[in-house]
Amino acid sequence: MKGVAILGATGSIGRSALAVLDQHPDRFRAVALTAHRSGEALLALAHRYRPSLAVIADGEVPAGADSTPTEWASGRQALLDAATHPDADVVLNALVGAAGLEPTLAALRAGKRVALANKESLVCGGELVMEAARQGGGELVPVDSEHSAILQCLQGSRAGDVRRLVITASGGPFRGWSAEMLAAATPADALRHPTWDMGAKITIDSATLANKALEVIEAHFLFGVDYARIEAVVHPQSIIHSMVEMVDGSVLAQMGFPTMEIPILYALSYPERLPYECRRFDPVAAGTLTFEPVRADRFPAFALGVEAGRRGGTAPAVYNAAKEVAVQHFLSGRLGFPGIAEAIAETLERCPAAAAQSLQDVLEADARARRTAEEFVQRLAPC
Ligand code: NAD
Ligand code: MG
Repeated sequence: MKGVAILGATGSIGRSALAVLDQHPDRFRAVALTAHRSGEALLALAHRYRPSLAVIADGEVPAGADSTPTEWASGRQALLDAATHPDADVVLNALVGAAGLEPTLAALRAGKRVALANKESLVCGGELVMEAARQGGGELVPVDSEHSAILQCLQGSRAGDVRRLVITASGGPFRGWSAEMLAAATPADALRHPTWDMGAKITIDSATLANKALEVIEAHFLFGVDYARIEAVVHPQSIIHSMVEMVDGSVLAQMGFPTMEIPILYALSYPERLPYECRRFDPVAAGTLTFEPVRADRFPAFALGVEAGRRGGTAPAVYNAAKEVAVQHFLSGRLGFPGIAEAIAETLERCPAAAAQSLQDVLEADARARRTAEEFVQRLAPC
């Protein structure tokens, strides 16, 4: 029986993770559950899963909490307590955004396995995260479907076997759109993802292809592969979740109908495989699989992100912070779709990369980038 702490239990990944736990009540127990502000939703989960600890990261413990057998706490420290809970063998980090970095570091330093959905941890603090895992004896296992695919393809291979990682992208809702159409794209258009049902932030990141840049950076750190050997390709059917090309020219791919439950289960059970009931793969129903290059000209946020990754230091944290600010303003209707990449480009220019040797370095770069991106939005669309 493994104890699982789920950070961000009320979100899209958090709910999928609880569905995974439902199928294996004899293997996994939810020991800690957290939510950002949604007390009511967390209360319902506490009644159902009876965790030892429930945390509201930013808000009040809900009325009625004492009707559960659970200990309740609130605030940032309580979130870190959930990430290092003594009964947790696995910490599933399903938080959204740069706020996920510190809990990842805390869990790894406490020697936990971190099942990582929060890709921003590696994007903002890749070197710190890998160092925390080495120092604390913690282990990082990806939840992101592309990285789970790569991890699965790498099973049984040896150091030096890999020539190239090929990360697939659905292309998002705006695949094939002209520059004129993109200029008029609304949040509702961007939230209509063709193949995946996800939280709002990652859905917009899929529309700009920034998500694919984050995933290239994530792969660089997770698998220790340099940027020159990581490629992204658009695969609109989202059946092949990623590929690994070996030095002998063999290409391994992991496939299935899109669902996050399989990569979540694999991150919990790895290296073991557990049985799971879900829609079975049917090659005939999947039909034709197609591939296209990433249109970097239409989706400048992709190239900006990969370039920030190559630059290293605080550049990826700056990229991510500017993007988070710009996405919020796009969702609120203040910024047009092309404005997201413009805000990122300007912020990267005005916040040069520095060394990212401590959490403090990263948090300062993040804060400065947020201010810079806000100034850009204010100039472009004063309110
Ligand atoms: P979501 O918005 O649906 O859920 C986020 C969860 O984190 C919620 O429980 C929310 O209450 C909590 N939260 C949000 N901000 C917080 C903060 N500042 N402090 C503490 N808690 C906070 O997001 P999601 O789609 O589940 O994505 C979670 C992470 O997983 C993201 O990094 C995303 O990029 C990654 N991811 C998601 C999917 C997917 O299918 N949804 C796939 C791959 C990777
Ligand atoms: Mg992904």
